[in-house]
Amino acid sequence: MSVTGILLCAGSATRMGFDKLTTPLCGRTAIERSAALLIAGGCDRLVLVGSAANEAYLNALSCAVPHTVVRGGAERSDSVRNGLAAANGCEIAVIHDAARCFTPADCVTACIESARTYGSGVLAMAVRDTVVRTDGTAYETLDRTNLYRTQTPQAFRYAEIVRAYAEADSATDDAALYRRVVGVPHLVPGSEAARKLTTAEDWNWAKERLMTYPKIGTGFDIHRLVEGRKLILGGVEIPYEKGLLGHSDADVLIHAMIDAIMGAAALGDIGKAFPDSDERYRGIDSRVLLRETADMVRKQDMQVVQVDATILCQRPKLRPYIDAMRQNLAADLGLAEENVSVKATTTEGMNDEGRGFCISAHAVAQVRGLRES
Ligand code: MG
Repeated sequence: MSVTGILLCAGSATRMGFDKLTTPLCGRTAIERSAALLIAGGCDRLVLVGSAANEAYLNALSCAVPHTVVRGGAERSDSVRNGLAAANGCEIAVIHDAARCFTPADCVTACIESARTYGSGVLAMAVRDTVVRTDGTAYETLDRTNLYRTQTPQAFRYAEIVRAYAEADSATDDAALYRRVVGVPHLVPGSEAARKLTTAEDWNWAKERLMTYPKIGTGFDIHRLVEGRKLILGGVEIPYEKGLLGHSDADVLIHAMIDAIMGAAALGDIGKAFPDSDERYRGIDSRVLLRETADMVRKQDMQVVQVDATILCQRPKLRPYIDAMRQNLAADLGLAEENVSVKATTTEGMNDEGRGFCISAHAVAQVRGLRES
C-alpha cells in the first residue's frame, strides 16, 4: 500500500528573520529532518511543496525515497491541494508541516495505521491548561475535557482527502476540511516534540533539545619573565619591571584558557590553531586569538559556557587587575562575568614561579554543543 508524504515547506520565513526551514540546526535543516522522519515513519514517496524562495534548495535535496518538488500556493490549503495533485496514485497521503521537524517517527507510523483502519489519523494533544475565552470584558472558562490541539502529520485515505479538498473551501487544517466533507477525523495521540518552529522561542527550544551535556577541558601554559617586555595578563597591561617572553604578547592566562576551550571542544590546541612559526601571530594581542577560538567553537555548533583559571605568580600582586581581566575575557567569549573566574596565587617562593623566573596559568572550560538527535 503506497504512502506518500506531502511535506509543506512553503510557509513564510519572515517571523524569525531567517529561513527556519532551510537554516541548518546541528548540520541538518528542518526540511531534511522532516523528510527523514516521514520516511522513517513509513512514507515510501515524498512530495515537497515549496516556495519560489526555496525551490532551488528543494530541487537539490537528496532523499532516500522517490520525491517530487512542486510549488505551493498563497494559503496553506492551496499548497496542500498542489501537493495532493502531485501525490496522485497513492493510497494514503500524509500531510506534514516541515516546521514540525522533531515529530517522533512513531507518530507518523501511528497516523498511517489509523488512516488504514479508520480512513484518517490526525495527530492531536489533549489540552492540559485551562482554556478561557475572553475579549477583556466577558470571561468564560471552557470545559477542556474534550479539547485537543491538532498537530501534524495528518494522514488520510487519498481519495477521501482529495474529495474533501475538491468540495470544501479552505480551512485552518486538513482535519477541519475532512470533517466538512467526509466525517469525523480519528485522532492519534500527539507529542510535545511535534512543536512547530515558528518563533525565536521555538528555535531556542529546538537548540536546547540538541544540546549535549557540558564538556570540560583543561589548559596549562607557562612563559619566562624577562626584562624589556610588557606584562600582559588577561589582556590587561600590568606595570612591572619585567614581562613575559613569547612569539605573541605572551598572555599566559589567555593561552591556558584557549587550550582549555579547545580541549573541551576537542579542537586540538593553541599550537595547532595559531602556530608560532606563523608571522601573522608575531606580537599579536592574545585577545584576538581568544575571540577566534570562540568563533571556531561556534562554527562547530558549540558554545563556551564557563571558564575558570588560576595564575601562578609570585610578583607583582595581581589582585588589583583581576576584575579587568574578567571583563576582557567575558567580552571576548560572549559570557556573563559570573561565568568567568580568574584567581591568582603565589607559590610561596617555591618553584620557578616563586623564584620569579616565570608565570604560569591553569584553566578549565566548559563547552556545550549541539548533537544529532
Ligand atoms: Mg603560551
